[in-house]
Amino acid sequence: MVSAQKKLNSTGRRSGRWRTSERCRCRAAQELDSLKLLYAASSGDGHTMPGHPECFARSNAALNGLNTALEEANQATVNDASTPRDLEQLKNALANGVDYDEATDELLQLVHVPAYVEGLRELLPRAREAGCMTIETGGPTYFTPYSVMAAVSAVGAACAVADEIVAFNNAAVSTPAGLVLTRPPGHHAVPGGPKGFCLYNGAAVVARHVQQKHNCDKVVVIDFDVHYGNGTADAFRDDSSVLYASMHQERIFPFEGNIDEVGQGEGEGCNLALPLPAGTGRTLAFESWDTVIAPKAREFLRDAKKCFVVISAGFDAHFLDPTAQFMWDASDYYHLARRARELAGECAGGRLLYIMEGGYHVDNGNEASRGVGGALGVSIAELTRSTLGLASLEETLAARGNQVEASAPEKKAGLFGNMFGGGGGGAKVDPVEASRFALYGRAPRPDEPMELGMDILHRARQIHGI
Ligand SMILES: [Zn+2]
Repeated sequence: MVSAQKKLNSTGRRSGRWRTSERCRCRAAQELDSLKLLYAASSGDGHTMPGHPECFARSNAALNGLNTALEEANQATVNDASTPRDLEQLKNALANGVDYDEATDELLQLVHVPAYVEGLRELLPRAREAGCMTIETGGPTYFTPYSVMAAVSAVGAACAVADEIVAFNNAAVSTPAGLVLTRPPGHHAVPGGPKGFCLYNGAAVVARHVQQKHNCDKVVVIDFDVHYGNGTADAFRDDSSVLYASMHQERIFPFEGNIDEVGQGEGEGCNLALPLPAGTGRTLAFESWDTVIAPKAREFLRDAKKCFVVISAGFDAHFLDPTAQFMWDASDYYHLARRARELAGECAGGRLLYIMEGGYHVDNGNEASRGVGGALGVSIAELTRSTLGLASLEETLAARGNQVEASAPEKKAGLFGNMFGGGGGGAKVDPVEASRFALYGRAPRPDEPMELGMDILHRARQIHGI
């Protein structure tokens, strides 16, 4: 058993949280029913390489995003409460941090081969000597003296939150969703080694963990990171009990995830790869989910006795992300999270866990994103807002835009007019587009490659009999 690792809650402090059994003994059922989110964060201290996009700043951005949404939820609850209550109590009523340990070798070896788990530790003396070294496995991954600790903490956090989700579900109270903000990411790591910034595959380990510990007979892993999760696909390639479904940009790293990769042997038909063109925006993202991924998942889970949904939640499909060319914005993560909740509620008893994968735009440069750390932080805030049942930031901004238009057109021109070439009072502005612009200083390119994308979705429906 590996000793307990430093635990961070959303404010960066060590947390000593209750286990669910304690919560259930100590708190009234109606309070537990109001809980919407269980979360864990692991900052990956010391696992960082100067100038590398998978950097320590991502932790801060992620935690800031979570905190921003929780603060808003807290405020909304204060406004709604008929009787004054303690603020911390209100916050805890909506979202709880989960205590966790480092993943044991036994957990890691649910997916990774023992030689790799041991081999990574054996690299530590060389890493201490070098400070930071690179492991070349067809997609370089940097490695520091702290990397093993960061990676086993990330996997441990994911499994602990999954355990809590199942415990709530078993206790016959409403089932909160889980959000795991950890690094390094995991979905490129294959059973035998690291790849593409990833050391251990948290999403794959959680899938195996809930099968073994909680008797889930079927697990769906949906991956909306802009890169294909080749490691997760590898882990379950010939397995009929796990569906891996990914929408990702075609012809970029890891150069896998072609539409004809459907799994093999008993797992044939249990790998769904949607390689979408550069420029894919919200229309193709939602179309992919609504007409291919969700129907496929529903069909896969139709005869399941107990199932679990894991989301490999990468945020690098954002239009500001430096690693790819999708055109999503933070609001799109809000709507994808809403769809995920609906699917898990309908097919998996609400058992749903988001695990952070990529997402590399952590710039603090513009006014709107200051304080939440660029596209990554805003996107995580949006996913959290969706989970907590709040309005999206886009909707809030749009409503504010409408209010401004209704009350004082000249003020609205000041807010949004310059962005669209207007300048005078009464400039005609679409409030939704204006809100997207206000968030980032520019809007995503509107012209999606619809014909190419729709053709891929059509072919996927044919291949998978949807
Ligand atoms: Zn990625």
